[in-house]
Amino acid sequence: MRLASLESMRVAVPPLFAFDNSYVRDLEGLYEPWRATPAPAPRLLALNEELAAELGVDADALRAPEGLAVLVGNTTPEGASPVAQAYAGHQFGGFSPRLGDGRALLLGEVLDVHGRRRDLHLKGSGRTPFARAGDGKAAVGPMLREYVIGEAMHALGMPTTRSLAVVATGGDVARDTMLPGAVLTRVAASHIRVGTFQYAAAHDDPTLVRRLADHAIARHHPDALEAENPYLAFFEAVVDAQASLVARWMLVGFIHGVMNTDNMTISGETIDYGPCAFMDAFDPATVFSSIDRGGRYAYGNQPPIAQWNLARLAETLLPLFDVESDTAIAAATDVLQSFPERYNEYWEHGMRAKLGIADGQPDGALIDDLLVLLHAQSVDFTSCFRALSSAVLGDAAPARSLFAAPSGFDAWSVRWRAQVSSQASDPQAVAEAMDRANPVYIPRNQQVEEALAAASDGDLEPFRRLLDVLAQPFDERPGLESYSAPAPPSCGAYRTFCGT
Ligand code: AMP
Ligand code: MG
Repeated sequence: MRLASLESMRVAVPPLFAFDNSYVRDLEGLYEPWRATPAPAPRLLALNEELAAELGVDADALRAPEGLAVLVGNTTPEGASPVAQAYAGHQFGGFSPRLGDGRALLLGEVLDVHGRRRDLHLKGSGRTPFARAGDGKAAVGPMLREYVIGEAMHALGMPTTRSLAVVATGGDVARDTMLPGAVLTRVAASHIRVGTFQYAAAHDDPTLVRRLADHAIARHHPDALEAENPYLAFFEAVVDAQASLVARWMLVGFIHGVMNTDNMTISGETIDYGPCAFMDAFDPATVFSSIDRGGRYAYGNQPPIAQWNLARLAETLLPLFDVESDTAIAAATDVLQSFPERYNEYWEHGMRAKLGIADGQPDGALIDDLLVLLHAQSVDFTSCFRALSSAVLGDAAPARSLFAAPSGFDAWSVRWRAQVSSQASDPQAVAEAMDRANPVYIPRNQQVEEALAAASDGDLEPFRRLLDVLAQPFDERPGLESYSAPAPPSCGAYRTFCGT
């Protein structure tokens, strides 16, 4: 056969992803085109097959050397337009006008099999023009941590960014010690943050906030276009999405740990699993992050901090709300002040589901009174709520045993069971519904640490097991008791870290 006919037989290899990059198209001024720093020896540590399928990409193609090269940033796939995104942010209350992706790149956007637009983003892919003093790198442990906690949150029904893969780079990262480096591929509805709006507002182009708002409306809150004042309706939609999200966090004891405005999305997805962790014993003052010395981002502060961040968003949008600044401020204030009511509604609805109390029935302070008891006796939040379904079926012992001095619980339980049984529902159905609202398995701090330590030493088995357990958080399975228990007191206070 002659060469010419061989040429004509060559089969075109379809690109891995069908990119359509609206952020880059629409928002010049809010990014810097950039390339990842090559990784010396990429090795796959984790691949999310379910998410790959949702993105319409073949998992085996991602596992192949060409796929790994894309996931670690060594090749730019056809159709991608990698950029470092610009954003500003209030960090612990202090404003930084220029943060941006210091160690990350937006590769581009793809439409998933449901037609939803998703960002593909590399984290730990080298220094960018926004890197400041940072090295642009990420270590294996923290990237696997983001992967496992994000997946646990997804399984708990939480709007969240997700992880497609973690690839070890084969290079080192200098932290307290030398650590193996990794790149995480993150998938998000978008990476537009409150801080993106702050950046747009703080820079000289008067059209930038409007272009960003138009893009964000089309992408995340298109119903706002129907309203009389679409920008105000957009702000209201973000306020509502965050009220719902933070209520969901609170209902499972999730503490984000670094709710800076650059870590709050416009889409309403949880983003940036840095120093986050789940609370064990119920205490509104719980803080895990080593740098949060004042407790700004403590469990109980999360709702008011979300509202504070949303006020920063409102400030950037004022000129779009109304040409008269007094009118704009009044309108923004009205919407902002609706946050507590929206939050309380989501929280109460969720708490009722956890306690088996139907909407519309009086809760008779049962929610607040139980939380007072949990706090006073340092009872494990997750275990207690999960144990309550047995009490509906007549066995209060599992819940009761969690209280050092159970008389308070007994008195509460009499009132609560009277309420639940007055609702005329079948107790079995009530217990089952409660078990769908109260997870057995959350990422327990000691389990996460053990899995990550083993993974950093090259043993990925504990990490994979943990992922498996957390993928079905509501289904109790025999043999997994150690995954549902809080850390023993001998573990001491748990500490988490930023900038890892
Ligand atoms: P974070 O605390 O992870 O939300 O990051 C806050 C800011 O610091 C963002 O602008 C990040 O891009 C940047 N950053 C964090 N770690 C690094 C690093 N190792 N190298 C460069 N920039 C970083
Ligand atoms: Mg961040």
